[in-house]
Formats: sequence, C-alpha cells, structure tokens
Amino acid sequence: MKKQQNPCLYLVVPCYNESEIIKISIESLDSKISHLIENKKISKKSKIIFINDGSRDNTLDILKKYKTQRITLLSLSHNSGHQNALIAGLEYALNKCDCAISLDCDLQDDINLIDKMIEKFKDKFEVIYGVRDDRKEDSFFKRFSAVGFYNLMRFLGVNIIKNHADYRLLSNRAINNLLQYKEVNLFLRGIVPLIGFKSCNLYYKRIARVAGESKYPFFKMLSFAIDGITSFSVQPLRFLSIIGAIVSLFSLIFGIWALITYFNGGTISGWTSMVVPMYFLGGIQILGLGILGEYIGKIYKETKGRPRYFIDEIIE
Ligand code: UDP
Ligand code: MG
Repeated sequence: MKKQQNPCLYLVVPCYNESEIIKISIESLDSKISHLIENKKISKKSKIIFINDGSRDNTLDILKKYKTQRITLLSLSHNSGHQNALIAGLEYALNKCDCAISLDCDLQDDINLIDKMIEKFKDKFEVIYGVRDDRKEDSFFKRFSAVGFYNLMRFLGVNIIKNHADYRLLSNRAINNLLQYKEVNLFLRGIVPLIGFKSCNLYYKRIARVAGESKYPFFKMLSFAIDGITSFSVQPLRFLSIIGAIVSLFSLIFGIWALITYFNGGTISGWTSMVVPMYFLGGIQILGLGILGEYIGKIYKETKGRPRYFIDEIIE
C-alpha cells in the first residue's frame, strides 16, 4: 500500500437515544473534521456518518437539522444494537473512504486521538486500537467486572485487546475483510484482531459521559460479555466435560466406599452424604445444560442467518 498523503476519513458514530448529547457531539466532531481538513491532514471528502439506531427520543430530529455536506445520516428501521449499528456504518463506508474511525457519540473517547490515528495510518498501520490508559472514572463494579472479563477471555484463549472497546481506525482493506465475517452474534472487538494487518495501540484517557446515561445497563453488559465468550471460545464446553469427568470419578469412589461400608455392616442413615451430592450434582447438571443451551442458542441464531439491520433512510 502506498503512503496515504491526505486520506479520506469517515467517522462512524452510532447513536441510540442520545438527544441529550447529540448536538454537542455533532458540533465537536464537525469542528474536529474541519480542523483536520484545514490543516491538510485529511481529504476534503472526509465525512461523519451518524447511525441512528432506532432511537425513541428525538435524536433523529436533531440529527436531521444538521444537514451539512460533511454529515451523512443512516437511520436504521429499529434498534438493532450497538454492534450492528457499527456494521451498518462500516458497510456504508466501504470503498468510499481510505479509512474509518468508529467511536461512540457520547464523546467519552478522546477525539484528539483522531490526529494520532491519522498519523499512524499514514505510517501504513491499518488497524489502530484506541485503548483506555486506566479505568479510574468507572465505578468499582464496572472496573472489577471488566478486569475479570478480560482475564477470563485471555484464559479461554481469545485474543482480545485489554481496555479497548470500539474506538478504532480501520483501513478500507481492513473494513472489507471485517465485513466478510457474516456472523449474526457480533462481538467486533473479538473479530478485529483476527483480520490481521499491521496494527498498533494508541492510549487515551476516557472521560465520563457529558450528558445522558449509559445504554449498557448491567444485564445488557452481562449478555454482551456472555456473547463475547461464547462467540469466540468453546472452552466452557470442554471445562464442563472435565468437571463432569471429575465429579463422576468422585461419585464412583464414593459409591465403592458406600458399598464397602454396607457389606461391613456399618451403614449409617447418612442424610448429609445423600443430600449434599444430590444438590451438588443437580447444580452442575443445570449449569452444564445452561452452557450447552448458550451454544445451541447461538447455532440457532446463526443458522437462520437473519439480516443484521435494515436501513430506513439515508440522508446525505
Ligand atoms: N448504542 C447504539 N445502540 C444501542 C446501544 C448503544 O447505537 O442499542 C450507542 C450509543 O448511543 C453510544 C454507543 O453505542 O454511542 C455506546 O453506548 P454507551 O455509551 O451507552 O455505552 P458505555 O460507554 O456506557 O459502555
Ligand atoms: Mg459511553
């Protein structure tokens, strides 16, 4: 790939019920792009793509008011989820730009990192990860669960960049490759490292939301984490088999011991020794069924291969 002089950059920004912040977001991103164009860092054709992910507030109305030649609006037909909204934006951007940066519209991700990302892109990096340098502004619970999640993913053998969410630059070639992953259960931060190419991390400080609240409440976060694990690793199924084997072995030893004591005439009416294994084995079985169910559910969704999103309108 030849060195890009003035790449055409698209910002891909999903928004869901962001009426409290969308105005600030549009203005900040627009001024960022203008500034980069003025300083001849990016081409004049650069744009911001806002993806309205079926917002139920007036995010879409506010977005429509800001019709400039630099802003394109994709409005999805209903709420399809953050990851699908990102894919919608990237699919739109494919072959129209030299590189695209995805970022949240709440401006938690430092937009000044964009300058550095562009520099790196000019140095022929094609996948550039925005990585948070700490998690100080997160609640204790979010920090604790995030650390646990990354460690578990790594333990399960999934290559995932710690403290990187969906703030990243992708070259057009990388977007093209990413879009070849047709899975319906999307966990982009797990897929992107699989596409290869020259990549690097750039660190930034993530700030608190300026307005509005997180669209990832506890259960949505948990379900996203389970999706991440089950989409990239079948290790939990293997652990299940190992646990099953170990428990069976102990049950066998226990059974032999019970028989021996029976024939020795030393049988005690052992309530504890009956009830404890019963609950324990019951628990393991239900857990096992749950894990199996997770994977079967995933297969079910993938075999149907339903479309990931529908576009209601495109305003260019
Ligand atoms: N988002 C979306 N669809 C959804 C949920 C969220 O497009 O169903 C967008 C949201 O507007 C934001 C980004 O995804 O731009 C990340 O969401 P949020 O900031 O709520 O997540 P957090 O930063 O709290 O993890
Ligand atoms: Mg956020």
